[in-house]
Amino acid sequence: MSILPAPPSPIQLLDLAAEHAALQPALSEAVAEVMASAAFIQGPAVGQFAAELGGYLGGTHITPCANGTDALTLALMSLRLPAGAEIIIPAFTYVATLEAAALLGLKPVLVDALPDTFNIDPVAVDAALTPRTGAIVAVHLFGQCADLEALRAISTRHGIPLIEDNAQALGASFTFANGETAYAGTVGEVGTTSFFPSKNLGCLGDGGALITHDATRAALLHQLANHGQSRKYHHQHIGLNSRLDTLQAALLRVKLRQLPTNTAARQAVAARYDTALAAVPGISIPARDARSSHVFHQYTVQVKEAGRRDELQHFLKSCGVPTMIYYPLPVHAQPAYAYLGYQAGQFPMAERLCGAVLSLPIHPLLTAEQVDYVAQYVGEFFK
Ligand SMILES: *Cc1c(COP(=O)(O)O)cnc(C)c1O
Repeated sequence: MSILPAPPSPIQLLDLAAEHAALQPALSEAVAEVMASAAFIQGPAVGQFAAELGGYLGGTHITPCANGTDALTLALMSLRLPAGAEIIIPAFTYVATLEAAALLGLKPVLVDALPDTFNIDPVAVDAALTPRTGAIVAVHLFGQCADLEALRAISTRHGIPLIEDNAQALGASFTFANGETAYAGTVGEVGTTSFFPSKNLGCLGDGGALITHDATRAALLHQLANHGQSRKYHHQHIGLNSRLDTLQAALLRVKLRQLPTNTAARQAVAARYDTALAAVPGISIPARDARSSHVFHQYTVQVKEAGRRDELQHFLKSCGVPTMIYYPLPVHAQPAYAYLGYQAGQFPMAERLCGAVLSLPIHPLLTAEQVDYVAQYVGEFFK
C-alpha cells in the first residue's frame, strides 16, 4: 500500500466541542438563567423541555428522568409485573436494556437479532412468548426502527406490553402497512430515551426521558421518578430519585432546536458513505428498512470475512480514522449475566455480529472530504 496522506482535518467519532461552540451564546444564556433562578431541581425548564420534546414527537407525554437506564427501569416499574416475570430483550444491544430488568428481579429472556438491520427478530420474539412473559423490549438500534409492524401485532395479539428503548433513534419514524406513520418511542406502551452526551440529542451530562400516549401512565411515571410521591411528602409508590436536572433541561431546550438539522446532516453523511462504500467487496453497508427512517446514531458496516474486522479497525486507526465496535460481546456472554444460563452458540446472529460490525465516524459536522477520506481507506484495505 502506498504512503498515506493525512486526513483532511482530524477525524473524530463525535465533535461535541465544535457542536457546542456553534450554540455557545444560547447555551451560556440557558446556564445563566438557571443559575439566577436557583431552581436546580424541577425548575420550569424541565416542564418546558418535556412539552417541547412531546411536541417534536407529534404530541405525546414526556416524563424526564435522570438517564436512559433509569427510564427503562421506570418503564418496567410502571407495568407492575409480578416478580420473576419474563422480559423479552434482544441479545444484541447495550447492556442497560438488560440491567433494568435484572435489577427489578424480572427475568431477561434473550432473543436473537436480524442479520441485516441488527434489530430484534420478531419471529424469535413470538417463539419466546410464554404464559410468564411480562413485556417485550425492542431497541431501535443504531437509529433505525425495529420491525414495529410485527412487534405491535404480537403485543396486541397477546396483550403483552411493548417497551421501546429509543436511546439511539430519537426522531426516527416508522410507516405501518395501514399508512399510519409514528415516531420511534411512541408506538408501544412506553418509550424510553437517553440524553447521554453522545446520543443524537445529548445533554452536557446524564439525562433521560419516558414517552407515552397515556396520560394516566405519564402521571404514574412522574411519581415513580420522584420518590413515588403524589405531592410533597405523600408517597403512593416505592419510587426512584430520578429527575432530569433543570440545568440539563435548559441546555436540552437549546439542543432540541438543532436536532432536525443535525439529523439531516447525519443522514447526508450516511448517504455519502452508502454511495462510496456500496461497491467495496469486503463489507456490507447498513441495511435500510423501507418502512423506517434512519437517524444514523451509528453508521455500522459489517465485515464479511470472519476475523478481518479487527484488522480493518487497526488499519483505519493508522490512517487517522477512529472507529468503534458496538458491541464486542453479546449480553449473554457478559459475566454479570452468566446466571441466566445461556450458552455460546445460542444466539448465532448476535454472536456473529459482535465479530463483524464496525461503526465509522458519523456526526453532524463531519465534512464531505472527511467522509470521502474514510471511504477511500476502507476501499484501500480490501484492494
Ligand atoms: C445509551 C443507551 C442506554 C442507556 O442510556 P444512559 O442514559 O446511558 O443510561 C440504554 N439503551 C441503549 C440502547 C442505549 O444506547
